[in-house]
Amino acid sequence: MHFSRFPRVRLAHLPTPLEHMPRLSKELGVELWIKRDDCTGMSSGGNKTRKLEFLMAEAEAMGADMVMTQGATQSNHARQTAACAARMGIACHILLEDRTGYNNANYNENGNVLLDHLHGATTEKFPGGHDMVGEMNRAADAARAQGKAVYVIPGGGSNPTGALGYANCALELLGQVNERGLKVDRLVHATGSSGTQAGLVTGMAALNSGIPVLGIGTRAPRERQEQMVYDLAQRTAEKLGCPGVVSREDVVANTDYVGDGYGLPTQSGLEAISMFAELEGILLDPVYSAKGAAGLIDLARKGQFQDERVIFLHTGGSVGLFGYDFAFDHSSRRING
Ligand SMILES: *Cc1c(COP(=O)(O)O)cnc(C)c1O
Repeated sequence: MHFSRFPRVRLAHLPTPLEHMPRLSKELGVELWIKRDDCTGMSSGGNKTRKLEFLMAEAEAMGADMVMTQGATQSNHARQTAACAARMGIACHILLEDRTGYNNANYNENGNVLLDHLHGATTEKFPGGHDMVGEMNRAADAARAQGKAVYVIPGGGSNPTGALGYANCALELLGQVNERGLKVDRLVHATGSSGTQAGLVTGMAALNSGIPVLGIGTRAPRERQEQMVYDLAQRTAEKLGCPGVVSREDVVANTDYVGDGYGLPTQSGLEAISMFAELEGILLDPVYSAKGAAGLIDLARKGQFQDERVIFLHTGGSVGLFGYDFAFDHSSRRING
């Protein structure tokens, strides 16, 4: 995999650390390591920055003076896009979809939304279920009619260009485990718009790693999630020059931890947040990484990772905690006042 063939802007702090989690390991009865993609650097980090290294390079190559993207109100992808655009001196416009219906002020103004605006991006809000792709095309056409050179980034940065960032992550991670002499049995992470898993399975297959990847769903039902990942993985493999390297069985998603829907916190996710925070000082987010960790915790407790060395890819998102503060009851920690 010859990544230097693709245009790339260096935006992320790489390589991200690979850290052993002794206290979580003891609690869960597996040897747990975390790949710290919550530490990619830009505007508090997260998985979208790896994708944006390749996406923003395409924007730059076409002479864009504006990028446009879309996501949920508390989109980490939107925030990282806004930060990367700021660093590159490119305007950023974000279309936000209200997928939860929360009226809460922090949800609508704090967390990722606050940072979108601090980075200078403009945002536009739409109701849940709105045709966001059509809307973004219309908005891009309108900006072009005013003379802007617009580069459109799909939700989550999930297309073959963005997924290159995670094929590259597979290469980076294999380098780290080989360097340390770690035989790894499994890689687990939260999956959503599918670019992360598609890139990882493509990279892992192209490198013949033998490491299975398990995506824990945050939105779509299993069939649809796996099909989305598989389709994108195939297109990513073609782009990388290794068409057909990913087989359908390489794509596995467990969508049992979505709960009531995208962006709606679950009890098991909130427990995962407390467990990671209290045992290892690691912050998860309620929309993605907490649901991923909830799957990891539950499957470990059911004995499905018996005697395994598991890597949890931490995809970031902790800024979202400040948009979801209402989901936490931490009053018992207050001794006074
Ligand atoms: C976007 C996101 C994911 C999911 O990654 P996809 O590539 O969209 O599947 C997981 N965790 C966090 C924190 C995210 O922001």
